[in-house]
Amino acid sequence: MGNKNSCQLYENIKRTIESIYNSMDDYLYVQDLSSGMYYVAPSVLERFDLPANEFGNSDEVFKAIVHPEDYPTVVKDVSVVASGDKLEHDMTYRWRGKDGTYKWVNCRGNTYFDGDIPVIMGCINEIGRHQVADNTSGLLGEKQFQEFYEKGIADGNAKGYIIRFGIDDFKEINESHGFDYGDTVIRKTAERIQKVVGKKKIVYRLRADEYIMVCFGDYEISDAIDVYEKVADSIENFLEESNYDVFYTMSAGIIDMGDLGEKNGFERILRISEYALNEAKHRGKNQYYILCIDDYDKFKERRKMINLMKKVVTDGCKGFEAFFQPIADYKTKKFVGAETLLRYRDEDGNLIPPYKIIPVLEETGLIIPVGRFIMEEAMKMCKTMKSIIPGFYVTVNISYIQVNKSNVLEDIIAGVKKYKLPAGTFVVELTESGFIESNESFIAFANALRKNGVLLALDDFGTGYSNLHYLYNLRPDTMKIDRSFTMQALESPYEMLILNYLADMAHSMDLKMVIEGIEEAVELERIGQIKPDYIQGYYFGKPMPTVEFLEAVEKN
Ligand code: C2E
Ligand code: CA
Ligand code: CA
Repeated sequence: MGNKNSCQLYENIKRTIESIYNSMDDYLYVQDLSSGMYYVAPSVLERFDLPANEFGNSDEVFKAIVHPEDYPTVVKDVSVVASGDKLEHDMTYRWRGKDGTYKWVNCRGNTYFDGDIPVIMGCINEIGRHQVADNTSGLLGEKQFQEFYEKGIADGNAKGYIIRFGIDDFKEINESHGFDYGDTVIRKTAERIQKVVGKKKIVYRLRADEYIMVCFGDYEISDAIDVYEKVADSIENFLEESNYDVFYTMSAGIIDMGDLGEKNGFERILRISEYALNEAKHRGKNQYYILCIDDYDKFKERRKMINLMKKVVTDGCKGFEAFFQPIADYKTKKFVGAETLLRYRDEDGNLIPPYKIIPVLEETGLIIPVGRFIMEEAMKMCKTMKSIIPGFYVTVNISYIQVNKSNVLEDIIAGVKKYKLPAGTFVVELTESGFIESNESFIAFANALRKNGVLLALDDFGTGYSNLHYLYNLRPDTMKIDRSFTMQALESPYEMLILNYLADMAHSMDLKMVIEGIEEAVELERIGQIKPDYIQGYYFGKPMPTVEFLEAVEKN
């Protein structure tokens, strides 16, 4: 092995390493790039299959010890450093251990100069063995996962599965038990997962409390489920062993790589696996979720819609429009009112129907500002119509979110005052969805409306379960029969009978009844037997902008 004229700097560093290596876990090394001499802390020989801790033929030695899959990239990087184009070497790869298995090491080094002679000095860290400061779990991280994954894909692997684990409510463990304990949980969990999947597979750590693994090959999705279940069991054992000092569960997102096709880039699988894991958590945690691409596409659509709606609201609701659908008196066939219906017109001028936007607006709370906008439009319209048709009323749909989370009552009262709307000409439509948990506040809301001369219509009647109960509690002024109920009544004598009884009851309670969804003259004719008060449906007009509505009024 002898010393092939290595430079002084090399000798000095070597002596320093000799004197301190016993007090270190990492293996310090030095290499003279001109002579090729390489010296590494002697302790390395206890773990790795090196012929000696100093040698001159480093190329051959490394070729023998570095994992064949990693070797080409290592050589490439070292040659770049040797050429002086780069001063730093920092890579993670596998070295063969004394026991014949490969172990992950992180090798870092910087170039120094003794005159013109470049010398690399650095340190080799055996990742799986020690607890590395930035790697509580002892697992490799995202960067290494990316290398492994991209290499697998480049090698033509298209099948297999990806499983991403996440500790449920990890934040709470940290908060209630402290960060040290949190770190222990991360490490123990990593150990358990690695034990379940075996030495041949590598589990990587993503973020604080998440782990990911890809298994290339002819696997079934049931293999992934099996892994999940074993991990969950193993963690349960760990909790039991620690006398339930801490309690936590594990969720996982599973991806069948066969579902991804060509769209299997690293960034995408990170996003998709994140979605899959979140989905498992949303569905109640302590479970796995197998990615369904359709669900993911819908999720992305929804997120796009959420972003769009946020932007539109920030821009002062530009793009939202109020449409009005006539409500006609059954006997005279004259328009007596209109329902306000929200529309969104996108940048290409297409009208987006409410079913695509209302759920998103409700979920994000944006229904509050949008609700204010639509109400303002409705009141303006009501003011206009008042001079054309005396007693004309306008209805607005109010979402339970607006009732629960904003002061919609104040908005209504202020608006009615501002537009000088006579009592009984502004109507709030409520559906029973969302009432159940907030009965009290709805009753208070309904009472306050009545006190202020605002009418209340119970919408979508015939679609829920406990409608009659709400009739009693909210004491609305109007009952709107949902189109689906209307259609059933027109088809089945039995349903018609029920509707008839309902109409009798409504009238005896002094409630007005609106029939929704009448499209044809025959339908109008046949529904007459229940003696409805008002009709709303395409037969009298579809929802339309104010200008068209005014024209329709002329014709009517
Ligand atoms: P809704 O309150 O039951 O409104 C009636 C729906 O039935 C409207 O759908 C209307 O276009 C449709 N319709 C009326 N007559 C007929 C007919 O003869 N045939 C058929 N096939 N359909 C008819 P639209 O405008 O798509 O609204 C859907 C739902 O979106 C509304 O149902 C309401 O729940 C919600 N919505 C609309 N605008 C608003 C709003 O400003 N705020 C809130 N919170 N919800 C709104
Ligand atoms: Ca309605
Ligand atoms: Ca309705």
